[in-house]
Amino acid sequence: MIELVSTARCVGCSMCVKVCPTNVFDEGPDRIPVIARQNDCQTCFICEVYCPVDALYVSPYGDEAEIVDERELAESGVLGSWREKIGWGPGRVKLAKLDTTPFIDRVLPLQPPLDEEETAFILTPDYPRKPAG
Ligand code: SF4
Ligand code: SF4
Repeated sequence: MIELVSTARCVGCSMCVKVCPTNVFDEGPDRIPVIARQNDCQTCFICEVYCPVDALYVSPYGDEAEIVDERELAESGVLGSWREKIGWGPGRVKLAKLDTTPFIDRVLPLQPPLDEEETAFILTPDYPRKPAG
C-alpha cells in the first residue's frame, strides 16, 4: 500500500490525487498530497507510475502498513522505481517495447524485434535508463 510522499521530490502537480481510483490522497495546502485514507489503498501502483518525479513509494505488501525510511528508499533506488521499471519517463525503455508475448501484440501494434544493441542494453545494470547519446 502507499507508504510515502517525498516532500523533497514532489512538485505539487496533483497527478496522484487525480489518478488514485480510491481517493486515498487529499491535496495539502502547499499542494503536496497527504495520504489521508491509507487503508483504502489497493496497491495498484497507479500513483507511483504517474508521478513525474518519482516521489511516491507504494509497498508491494497490500494488507498492512510498512514503516519506511525515505533516505533508504532513495539510496536503494526503490523510490518511484515501478515507474522506472515499466519505462515511463524521459529516456526510459517502455516495457511494451520489450514484451513480445502474444497478448501485447493483441492490444498494441506489433513491435519490431529488438536489435543487437537494444538486446545487449537490457542485460546491463543501466537498464531501464537509456545511456545518453
Ligand atoms: S497505489 Fe493505487 S490505490 Fe494506492 S494510493 Fe496509489 S493510486 Fe491510490
Ligand atoms: S504525482 Fe508526484 S509530484 Fe505530483 S503531486 Fe503527486 S507526489 Fe507530488
